[in-house]
Amino acid sequence: RDGAKKFEFQAEVNRLMDILIHSLYSHKDIFLRELISNASDALDKIRFLSLTDKSVLGEGSTAVMDIRIWADKASRQLFIRDRGIGMTQEDLVKNLGTIAKSGTSAFLEQMQKGGDMNLIGQFGVGFYSVYLVADWVEVVSKAPGGKQYIWASGADGQFTVSEDEGENEDLGRGTLIKIHLKEGEEEYADEARLKALVTKYSEFINFPIYLQATTEKEVPVEEKAADGDHATTEKEVPVEEEAADEKSEKESEEAEKESEKEEDEESEKDEKEDDEGDVVDEEDEEEEEKKPKTVKQNVTEWEHLNDNKAIWLRKAKDISEEEYNKFYKAVSKDYDDALNRIHFKAEGDVEFKALLFIPKRAPWDFYDNIQRAKPKATPGGTASAGLKLYVRRVFISDDVDELLPRYLSFLRGVVDSDSLPLNVNREMLQHHASLRTIKKKLVRKALDAIKKMADDEAACNADDSSDDAEKPTGDACKAFGTFWKEFGRALKLGVLEDDNNRGRLAKLLRFYTSKSPKELTSLSGYVSRMKPGQKTIYWIAGMSQDEVARSPFAEKLVAEGYEVMYLTDVLDEYVMQQLTEFEDFKFANIAKEDVDTTAEAEGEDKEAAAKAKKEAAKALKESFKPLTSWWKDLLGSKVAGVKLSKRLSSTPCVVVASKWGQSANMERIMKASAF
Ligand code: ADP
Ligand code: MG
Repeated sequence: RDGAKKFEFQAEVNRLMDILIHSLYSHKDIFLRELISNASDALDKIRFLSLTDKSVLGEGSTAVMDIRIWADKASRQLFIRDRGIGMTQEDLVKNLGTIAKSGTSAFLEQMQKGGDMNLIGQFGVGFYSVYLVADWVEVVSKAPGGKQYIWASGADGQFTVSEDEGENEDLGRGTLIKIHLKEGEEEYADEARLKALVTKYSEFINFPIYLQATTEKEVPVEEKAADGDHATTEKEVPVEEEAADEKSEKESEEAEKESEKEEDEESEKDEKEDDEGDVVDEEDEEEEEKKPKTVKQNVTEWEHLNDNKAIWLRKAKDISEEEYNKFYKAVSKDYDDALNRIHFKAEGDVEFKALLFIPKRAPWDFYDNIQRAKPKATPGGTASAGLKLYVRRVFISDDVDELLPRYLSFLRGVVDSDSLPLNVNREMLQHHASLRTIKKKLVRKALDAIKKMADDEAACNADDSSDDAEKPTGDACKAFGTFWKEFGRALKLGVLEDDNNRGRLAKLLRFYTSKSPKELTSLSGYVSRMKPGQKTIYWIAGMSQDEVARSPFAEKLVAEGYEVMYLTDVLDEYVMQQLTEFEDFKFANIAKEDVDTTAEAEGEDKEAAAKAKKEAAKALKESFKPLTSWWKDLLGSKVAGVKLSKRLSSTPCVVVASKWGQSANMERIMKASAF
């Protein structure tokens, strides 16, 4: 192409494309889901912009917000066109080739480990999946007020960008993806196949999607069927007519008026022709008499394939499991079903509807993000999208940090509020007072749902056979286990960060202990197994369960029949610093000084026992004085003191941290700055 500028793909993008174009992956159709999702994102963006600047929508047919798909089998081509925000020349260069996203390398890594291709969208590189089926792709795009450009590449390390000088029709606004299918991928130019796929992937896309379908029709001979693209019988074009936004309503009215106008003209014509017949009933007969001859012809029509109703506005009882899961996949770009969902409507001062999902697996960047101070500030920001915020059915953003605390940012789904203003920018919205209320309620609901999973698990494991009918079964019994494995650390972070819900979160924590070394147990589980009179929950932290179990600190307590929690996650010790109490019980780190189980003994002899112990200790201390003084002299300032211990049973000596000092484990953590 004359005047086309050549660009090299960013190195990792290049590697990714190379893998994709040579891939033998068997579910290549995911490319269509990714392209439809991009079209929908682009439409969301233009609709959002139009809230404050109506002119971006343009006029007439350009103002219509839809997605159209058609194919040409003979030339092995597939076309996907949206009237979204479009891309400038610079956007094309950056977004489709030169910008390095953190998701690119993360996805490559996953693929090397045998990860699923299906997840490509979650990593923010979904566009390139088109090369699973294509050997040549052109992206024709026009941003509002800009020129039309063509991006083109055969996935051979390079791409070109050039101005479109009449090569394609003027898009008005938006993007047209022209896909040349590889040999052997002809099925993606097949109407029936496309229809099935588009239906599968687009049911919950919030914009109308049309597929050009060819049908055989009886056509009157006189009235020749117009060919190809122009013979379009458009059904009603529902441009979000229910959206409470005046502007887009007007837009859709205008669009409707236009199509009405066309219809009116046709019916006028009909009426004129019918003028001679004065009895309406006879119309049919007369028509037949007038036009006796028809022929069968192929007529192309735009078939509307999705009903684009916002699922979260519907009543839960009217929504099937399958619909929920389809919607979940569309909004999360996950390919697996969700682990759990939370669908509710909040009323009162702040009204909103929410449909949230807990994924079965943590999003790839979840733990990276929650440990960073400002999660979305990465260059090329590819944190997998979070909750989608809508205001009266208009999509606003999927990275409103104020919507969820970081530790719950693995939740996916939508929040649609009636209480937020529509005509403000994102920054102002971020700080709107209603968001705080929404956040509070979302957190509460999410924690309730997690608790329900934990309760179900407990009910499944309970021995009582009394009300078996009430017991949850199957997946409900396993859900919390799966959840804990993926998101347990998130809950621990919640304990550190969420002062208001610390108590609730503590109940959800799980640990291994001396009495339950293989099965995770809760704090209430620990409490239920306490010795009579026990007032303290004992714990010890270290590198591995094996190490802490063999620790001399634990030995004596365990020998005395006390349960000791074995904490091996680097976060655990931080969690324990926050959790000073559970119910009425204190926590004690047994690796520190002053663990005295005497205080726990019950009954009358408690005092006597304490006294006797004290005297015995005093005598012992005296008799060992020569050794302890010698040792202290030897070590000098390296230790705070050398003491006789009451805590060991088989180990001769240990180095311990003082009660107020840092434990050895904590020191190790700080040194490694693992967190
Ligand atoms: P993601 O959608 O997760 O950002 P993709 O690889 O699918 O990742 O797309 C990369 C980027 O290319 C998008 O973020 C967007 O900026 C741009 N893009 C892709 N398709 C379109 C489109 N149809 N209209 C406008 N921009 C698009
Ligand atoms: Mg995408």
